[in-house]
Amino acid sequence: MKSIRDLDLRGKRLFLRVDFNVPLDRGRVTDRTRIEETIPTVRLAADTGAQVICASHLGKPKGKVKPELSLAPVAVAFAEALGHSVRFVEECVGPEAEASVRNLEPGEVLLLENLRFHAGEESNDPEFAKDLAALADLYVDDAFGASHRAHASVVGVPGLLPEKGAGLLLEKEVRELSRLLDPQRPFAVILGGAKISGKIDALRALARRADVLLLGGGMANHFVRAIGLPVGRSLLEEDKVPVAREVLDLCKKEGKTIALPSDFVVAASVDDAKGARTVGISKIPDDRMTLDIGQKTLEQFERLLEPARTIFWNGPMGVFEHPPFDRGTKALAMLLAESSAVTVVGGGESVAAVNEAGLAEKFTHVSTGGGASLEFLTAGTLPGIEALQ
Ligand code: ADP
Ligand code: MG
Repeated sequence: MKSIRDLDLRGKRLFLRVDFNVPLDRGRVTDRTRIEETIPTVRLAADTGAQVICASHLGKPKGKVKPELSLAPVAVAFAEALGHSVRFVEECVGPEAEASVRNLEPGEVLLLENLRFHAGEESNDPEFAKDLAALADLYVDDAFGASHRAHASVVGVPGLLPEKGAGLLLEKEVRELSRLLDPQRPFAVILGGAKISGKIDALRALARRADVLLLGGGMANHFVRAIGLPVGRSLLEEDKVPVAREVLDLCKKEGKTIALPSDFVVAASVDDAKGARTVGISKIPDDRMTLDIGQKTLEQFERLLEPARTIFWNGPMGVFEHPPFDRGTKALAMLLAESSAVTVVGGGESVAAVNEAGLAEKFTHVSTGGGASLEFLTAGTLPGIEALQ
């Protein structure tokens, strides 16, 4: 994989795939992390004298123009973060986009409108990819968070341009996450969160790679069911319980440590802070749901993580958006922040929780990609990375 530093950018039109899929609130960007992370790449390209054409998706417009998912407000935040003006065009292909590119001077930066306003982006339609590629001479991918998707701007466009490479952010992500493919052992993996079906492959792969596997959040409920205990009204994808059973068997067979929470904080709902109480793993009431891990579990996790030299964490331990169910997640974030091991956190909500606690600086690496980091650790590569080879 070539680096952007190996490309001759001077006077060239550069198609730069970025991940500006940022949270918006009434037309304002509420978290600029993703924009800021890619600024070094944009600056490098502009300073080298490229015409920098940035392209991103935002949300899920499903191939339709949705004004509330326009990247226009993102262009404002982008310009502020860059400390330099950014042009914006309300299309990403066609005559209007082409005219904007023609008017671009070397060193100038243009942001195209939301790629997903066209259905061809997600379906990787060859015609759409051709229209995008027609805008540029070179291709650079800096959108780590989108590189697990075989979409037109991720795999189609690089296939059509002669020169391509990785941006500085993509390079950093690959370098840091690669350390987990051949980790210093013991290697501990902590999995939580709610998106169980999206994490099944990662669960299997990480169980194989890890020496110690700790489970929390909604993920843990499936393991509680797998050992035959009731989970009440907890989040559960019944059809995923067999995978939990399979992972338990694998760990047993290979002599790995696997830990379920020994206690949970339960309540009637996320709004039932008053009714919150801690129960043992075998005592989850029929009319309650697990919303956090308990204190005993935290102490048990602390003991198990103590010898680890590498720790990867994905998925909150509880519904941290609703205090008091944020305690387990915050305490775990603190534990990892203080650890001397290589600590890596990946996942949209897990990273949000770490940022909220002000602990990001204390981690070895905070990945900008949720699904992408899990898929990279599962397969050792991503479609977007393959497309750059
Ligand atoms: P990430 O984005 O870090 O990969 P997920 O998207 O899988 O994590 O899940 C994040 C969500 O999981 C959070 O919004 C959190 O509220 C939820 N969650 C955590 N624990 C539980 C639980 N026990 N029951 C229901 N939801 C949970
Ligand atoms: Mg998430």
